[in-house]
Amino acid sequence: MKQFMLSAVLLVATLFGGAPGWGAETAVPKVVVSIKPIHALVSGVMQGVGEPVLLVKGGGSPHGYVLRPSEARALAGADLIVWIGPQLESFLEKSLSTLGRNATQLKLIEELRVDLLPARKGGSWEDHGEGHEGHHGDDRELNPHLWLSPLLAQQVVGSCVEALSRLDPGRSQIYAANAARVKARLGDLHERLERKLSPVRSVPYIVFHDAYQYFEAAYNLNAVGSISVDPERRPGVKRILDIREKIKTLQARCVFSEPQFEPQLVQAIIEGTDAGVATLDPLGIDLPAGLESYFTLLDGLADSLISGLQ
Ligand SMILES: [Zn+2]
Repeated sequence: MKQFMLSAVLLVATLFGGAPGWGAETAVPKVVVSIKPIHALVSGVMQGVGEPVLLVKGGGSPHGYVLRPSEARALAGADLIVWIGPQLESFLEKSLSTLGRNATQLKLIEELRVDLLPARKGGSWEDHGEGHEGHHGDDRELNPHLWLSPLLAQQVVGSCVEALSRLDPGRSQIYAANAARVKARLGDLHERLERKLSPVRSVPYIVFHDAYQYFEAAYNLNAVGSISVDPERRPGVKRILDIREKIKTLQARCVFSEPQFEPQLVQAIIEGTDAGVATLDPLGIDLPAGLESYFTLLDGLADSLISGLQ
């Protein structure tokens, strides 16, 4: 009986992370993640272990975000901070050099750099104009919206497992098992989206913000340009005429706006063209945070694209 108890305890210890020594569970790393889709992936890796803290919630833009005191405290107490890079979360750069000094940083734009694409500029691609001002040599030229491809998301998961296992080797098996499950689901998602999107592949469309380059590349979509508009200010008459001309010339079937733009503004811009309008949300602003939000976001993105392009 005693023998049985002992092996049961051993088994439990192994299952729950194989912490060294009897009951000497090491503390779960405190993890802070900048944006919701990345937070979803990190949550998946940490399932059953702990919950990462999410910084940019709701409709907050990752470009000009202002940290709340509780978020500043979370950053100061973090063991690991996962973010894209200054090209996206420009607000974090300064805070990290002070508050995040003691944490390990996982900067995804560096982790994934060999598979990232240069940001499109010139021709029908208007300047991003929303504060992705990078200032780090050639990193500036990479498109930072890397979470919108499930294949890149698999790499994000891989990078997270490595970082977490280095910080918390006692739970590395749990992280690895979680990651394998999440990666498999991302693989299924990719196949599903390939099937779903193949009928609209060649249909030309325009976006308000070139956040979808990796999504487009993953599914061979036909984005033909971007329009850079300030959500706070209605463009002048001349500018509106130029945009309409552009929509006609590029034969865009649909112009995809984003949640921060007033529908009336978008309507005024496309009036008199044959293009339809639909909205894409690259961050999942209304979704509850957690692993599922990633899948809901990408499926929703595909559905919105299809509805605009059919
Ligand atoms: Zn952006």
